[in-house]
Amino acid sequence: MSEVSDGLLRFMPGACLVDNGPDETHVLLANHNVTFLNHDVTRLVHAFAEALRTSSTQEQALVDVHAATQFSEDLCLRVLNMLRSSGCLSSGADYARDEIDPVLNFWGAQGLDVSRTRERLAEAAVVVVAPEPVLSVVTQAIDTTGVRHRAFPVRPTEPLAVVDMIARLDLSEATVLAVWGLQYATLVTRQLGQQALDRHIPALFGYCSGVLGRIGPFVLPNATACIECTNLRLSAHAGTAEARVIAAIRQSTDIPCGFGYPVHPAFASATLSLFAIELTRICLNLPPRTIGALMELTFGEAESRRRVLYRSPTCPACHPPRPERFGWDATFRSPVLAGEQE
Ligand SMILES: [Zn+2]
Repeated sequence: MSEVSDGLLRFMPGACLVDNGPDETHVLLANHNVTFLNHDVTRLVHAFAEALRTSSTQEQALVDVHAATQFSEDLCLRVLNMLRSSGCLSSGADYARDEIDPVLNFWGAQGLDVSRTRERLAEAAVVVVAPEPVLSVVTQAIDTTGVRHRAFPVRPTEPLAVVDMIARLDLSEATVLAVWGLQYATLVTRQLGQQALDRHIPALFGYCSGVLGRIGPFVLPNATACIECTNLRLSAHAGTAEARVIAAIRQSTDIPCGFGYPVHPAFASATLSLFAIELTRICLNLPPRTIGALMELTFGEAESRRRVLYRSPTCPACHPPRPERFGWDATFRSPVLAGEQE
């Protein structure tokens, strides 16, 4: 189920034991329950739950349980293997000191190796870009996930200043670019998307405006739909007026970078939290929902909708211009058929 990083075991965080008489014990887990039958086995399950309340090696747990119950070492080992294979144990779990860390407790309960998870969160190098007024809220949301990141505010409102700002953006050693709170059609988002493409850095986009929240796309450079493909797809059926609006937005010096309609604070907070969760899944190599897609949430509807996005063959950002094709059509008659006709 999980990679074992240091050989340590712990009973699954949050697991609860319920007895139904002396011969039946249920272990209640996050996503399933496990039932153990037989008087000796249920006693051993309780003994292991006690021995592994904090992290221990398999050898030490077997010694402790054998000493407490006097059952044979062979039976102890078989019950331990049953507990492990049925998902009752968490591995890599030297996290007695992390009892209060809800993030690691959660991932441990989901079956991830806790030590490896801690490493991956610490190794992440996410560059977060957001409008300055909301940047602190965004970093707080990502802080709760444990993902290592550094923040970069968007301040300027004039296109030339935006280009200058992007040029100063330090993406060295960045593993993921996370852009929050910037509408996709703006020049700054276009420039950020282009930077990520040029430097081959995966990028996650998201924003909230009015009653609409969007998480994604998560762009794998030159492999999935980029932010410009997204704009082309979203405006594909909007008519030429929409294209003119986008062009006007990009040239305007009057529209602030983080423009958007007023958002209910609770909705903004909920959407931002889902954005942070998606970022965590990316950093932990868990399959994100936003590769080649975006999730849309609408205020007042307690559900999200997934929109699949395909790359656009006419995208100016991720499809380099091809050589112009000139018309040159030639037709040759077969000499055999030509002879037959004579
Ligand atoms: Zn594209």
